[in-house]
Amino acid sequence: MLAKNIVLKALSEGRNVLLEPEAYNLLSAYNIHVCKHKMVSSLEDALKAAREIGYPVVLKIVSPDIVHKSDVGGVKINILNDSHLRESYETLMNDVKRNAPNARILGVLVVEMAPKSVEVVVGMLRDPTFGPTVMFGLGGIFVELMKDVVFRIAPVTKEEALEMIKKIKGYPLLSGFRGSKPLDINSIAELISTVSRIGVEIPEIDQMDLNPIIVYETGFLIVDARVILKVH
Ligand code: ADP
Ligand code: MG
Repeated sequence: MLAKNIVLKALSEGRNVLLEPEAYNLLSAYNIHVCKHKMVSSLEDALKAAREIGYPVVLKIVSPDIVHKSDVGGVKINILNDSHLRESYETLMNDVKRNAPNARILGVLVVEMAPKSVEVVVGMLRDPTFGPTVMFGLGGIFVELMKDVVFRIAPVTKEEALEMIKKIKGYPLLSGFRGSKPLDINSIAELISTVSRIGVEIPEIDQMDLNPIIVYETGFLIVDARVILKVH
């Protein structure tokens, strides 16, 4: 589906947040690589999806009423095999029903488990004066505690995005230090540039948050995508 249509469909249903699979489809429509994922609505289908994707996998609740999934027990990571998945599926459902009893549950997302590496964040927001603006920073405590982030007005070319990446204090974590291998900042620069283009081309998107993105020596994996729409 066309990126714009994904957004318009959600708006026509009165939603101002894209479901995680919708957000992944939006990114895919822009040729952005996303993790393997499948939405299911039964344990049997979850088992099938996990075997197709390949263990280890992650289970995530899909609900228009839950924005911070892990706060309600809606994310189970590092599921290793069928019996572990059966157990995790049940715990996930029980936790979510207990912690968010009124949330509408549309299904469960089975996702490939991303190996550990450095986490970064890419975001888009609309500045009242400057319009669509992109954000880049290191993930986890770096963004929340150290505020080690840079902003730039969209559109941003890949070269400008590379400059943004080089500006953060934590840059050595990405470029390699003390024997650690340099990570794929080129593909992240391309991602930042594409996100800036989404901000310019789809004004209905108010805010986008790809957090975290795990960066490897080659490529990256986006493991959470939040897209907030404008309601007029
Ligand atoms: P929330 O809605 O709470 O932000 P996330 O989807 O970001 O939920 O999941 C919470 C955390 O679980 C992530 O920050 C990440 O550390 C981990 N996680 C989620 N999905 C994956 C995945 N596919 N691979 C590895 N870790 C993951
Ligand atoms: Mg998240």
